Amino acid sequence: MRWQLGRRSDNVEDRRGTSISGPVVGGGIGALVLSLIVALLGGDPSVILQQGGSRTNNPPVNSPRPRSATDDQAAEFVSVVLADTEDVWNQIFRENGRNYVEPRLVLFTGRVESACGLASSATGPFYCPADEKVYIDLSFYRDLKNKYQAPGDFAQAYVIAHEVGHHVQNELGILNKVNRLRSQVSKTQANQLSVRLELQADCFAGVWANRAQRSRQILEQGDIEEAINAASSVGDDRLQQRSQGYVVPDSFTHGTAAQRATWFKRGIQSGNIDQCDTFGQNI
Ligand SMILES: [Zn+2]
Repeated sequence: MRWQLGRRSDNVEDRRGTSISGPVVGGGIGALVLSLIVALLGGDPSVILQQGGSRTNNPPVNSPRPRSATDDQAAEFVSVVLADTEDVWNQIFRENGRNYVEPRLVLFTGRVESACGLASSATGPFYCPADEKVYIDLSFYRDLKNKYQAPGDFAQAYVIAHEVGHHVQNELGILNKVNRLRSQVSKTQANQLSVRLELQADCFAGVWANRAQRSRQILEQGDIEEAINAASSVGDDRLQQRSQGYVVPDSFTHGTAAQRATWFKRGIQSGNIDQCDTFGQNI
């Protein structure tokens, strides 16, 4: 990706290396998991947040890594990608007669306090609708490359664009509507709704890539493949196969590798959010 000359976003909050501060609402994590987060990876967000630990059970010891030049470059990169998503989504919202409220992005190390609760880096990158912020520990990029075998800068850009896709869903009222629906149906049906939500975020990430390419020619040889590979590598089937050796389709919350790649491609080929109606058609 050609990003070095790109605009840097004003919406990055750099909390790397700081220890967690701020009150823990309700004295425990139980009260906080009510506000759902949307993460890049599968798994039950409430479980994930509990793993983050509560103040009462675990001392809030953050173990900040010494900051490396690689991390600082990754932080710059993330800022440029975020700025680019701002330009694209401002434009798309304007075209539809709406106003886009830009999300903020928090860089953290170890653990972080969000309006959705306390989360650890094990959660992977996530979006919290309650404070409209994207959260990422840059160490995830090492995992993306090594653990999930999805190297490349455009794979990294896809991760940000996917989380911003959740913010777009929030702005459009989709996230709220789906979360309400999810609370009224069976666990399996709720999971299926979650899959549609995630695939739409993948499609929105593709729409961003299409529009950014059209206006700023950001893509280099191999970039699209990197993003498609990343979308596949975090498919539920791949993740479950890796972690437990078998897959349970009813428990999928993010979609299979094939579905994630397909919807990302739909976005990047069309550049049109109308092509991302994962709720109105077969996925
Ligand atoms: Zn997601």
